[in-house]
Amino acid sequence: MASHGGITLGRIGGIRIGLDYSWFIIFALIAFLLASAYLPLVAPGMTALAYWSSAVMVALLFFASVLFHELSHAFIARRAGIPVNNIVLFIFGGMAQMEDEPGSPWDEFKMAIAGPLASVLIAVVFFGVALAAAVAENRLLLASFNYLWFINLVLAVFNMLPGFPLDGGRVFRAGLWKLTGSLRRATWIAALTGQGFGWLLIALGVGSLVYPPLRAFASIWFALIGWFLVSAARNSYQQTVLKETLARVPVADVMNPEVTAVPPALSVQRLVTDYFLRESASSFPVEHDGAIIGMVAVEDVRALPREEWERRVVADIMRPLAEERVLHPEDDAWDAASRMAKHNADSVFVTADGRMAGIVTRATIARWLQTHATWAPGPA
Ligand SMILES: [Zn+2]
Repeated sequence: MASHGGITLGRIGGIRIGLDYSWFIIFALIAFLLASAYLPLVAPGMTALAYWSSAVMVALLFFASVLFHELSHAFIARRAGIPVNNIVLFIFGGMAQMEDEPGSPWDEFKMAIAGPLASVLIAVVFFGVALAAAVAENRLLLASFNYLWFINLVLAVFNMLPGFPLDGGRVFRAGLWKLTGSLRRATWIAALTGQGFGWLLIALGVGSLVYPPLRAFASIWFALIGWFLVSAARNSYQQTVLKETLARVPVADVMNPEVTAVPPALSVQRLVTDYFLRESASSFPVEHDGAIIGMVAVEDVRALPREEWERRVVADIMRPLAEERVLHPEDDAWDAASRMAKHNADSVFVTADGRMAGIVTRATIARWLQTHATWAPGPA
C-alpha cells in the first residue's frame, strides 16, 4: 500500500522502519497546530520558541507512539510465526506489513489487539507524566502530555472500529473466522463491513462540506480516511482470495519450464551482453551437465571491476543457489509468491532431482491467474 517511496529510518530487530513521504504532512500539521493554536491557548504567555520546541517534541513522541503500536503488532505476529519485514509510517498512521495471513483466529485476534493495547499502555504512561507536570505546575509540559495521552487513546479507539483492515476489523474477522470456519468467508464479510464503514466516513466528510452543521463532528479529513479504508478493505480481500487460490495450485502449473541457465565457463562480459542486457531477469541459475550448481545475480557482476569482466568467468562470481529460492514441483504457487515477496526476489526456481524443472516469476503467476482464476466477488 504505502510502501513505495519514502525513507528508511533504520531497522529494529530486523524489521525495516520506513517513512512514507506523506508522513511529513501529518508531522508538520501536528507541530503547526500545536505551536500556533493549541499550546498558546491552554498555556498562554510563553515564547514562540517554547511553543515550537514543545510542539516538535509532541510530534516526535506521537511518531514514537505509532511506531510502538506497530511494533507490538509485529512482535506478536512474529511469535505466531508470521514474518514482518517492514513497518511503514504514513499520513494515516502506521502499517506493519505481514508476509502471510495468520494461521488461526486466535493468532489473528492476539495480533490485532496488541496494537490498541499498546496505545492504551502509552496513554497511561503519558497520563502519568501529565500528572507529574500538573504537580510541578509546568503548564506547557502538562498541555503537551495531555495532548499525547489523549491522542493515543483516540488512536486505540479509532483502530478498534470494526472496519477491516483496521485492528477492530481484524478482531471482527477473527470472530467471524472462528464462527464460520472459513477465512475467506470471514474476510469477505469483514471487508464488506470495512467498505461500508469507509463509505460512511466519506459521506460524513463530504457532508460536512455541503451541510455546515455536520462540521461539529466531521471534517473532510474523514472523507480521506474513509477513501483509504475502502481501498484497503478491497485490497485485503483480494489478497486473501489470491492466497486461497494459489495455495491450491501446484507450482508446476505456474512455472515456465523453459529456464535460461548460464554455463559456468561463460565470461562475465558475455553474461552481461548476452543475458542481463537481453532478458529482464536479475539473476540466472548456473547449469553444468544438466545439474544446477549455483546462481549468478546482477549484484555479483556489479561487485566485479569492469576491467575484469573479459577475463573472469561465471564460476568465479557465482554463489550457491539459496535455499529460499528453490522449490519442488509439488510445492504450491502461494509458497512461490510469498517467497518472492519475502526475499524481494523476482523469481524462484523449481528443481526436481537436482535438475532445473522451471522458473516462477510474478509474470508467470499473473499469466496463470488471467487464464484460470475465477474472481468470484462473493464468498466461496
Ligand atoms: Zn494497529
